[in-house]
Amino acid sequence: MYTIRQQIIALLTEEERGARDISQILRIREKEVYDHLGHIERSVASQDRKLQVIPARCLECSYVFGSRKRLTKPGRCPRCKGEHVADPRYRVVEAGRTGEGS
Ligand SMILES: [Zn+2]
Repeated sequence: MYTIRQQIIALLTEEERGARDISQILRIREKEVYDHLGHIERSVASQDRKLQVIPARCLECSYVFGSRKRLTKPGRCPRCKGEHVADPRYRVVEAGRTGEGS
């Protein structure tokens, strides 16, 4: 018997996923996923792991929302004002690990 947060951590340990993927797999609302992610970010830190955020990206001009620290998806692109923005994706990794390779 696992809590929702433990299930999300397990999913994100397996592979990177977006909030929508998680909401569909666990049948919870996307907003709830973001709430859980905020807690997960802190709770995994005590287990020598971290929540890695793959930033949102504009699908129209390829702008990457790199400096944004927020977990939730941005509404529109600050550069081209486009609204087709790829969701940020999340992964739980060992805190000591660096780089993007897997
Ligand atoms: Zn753009």
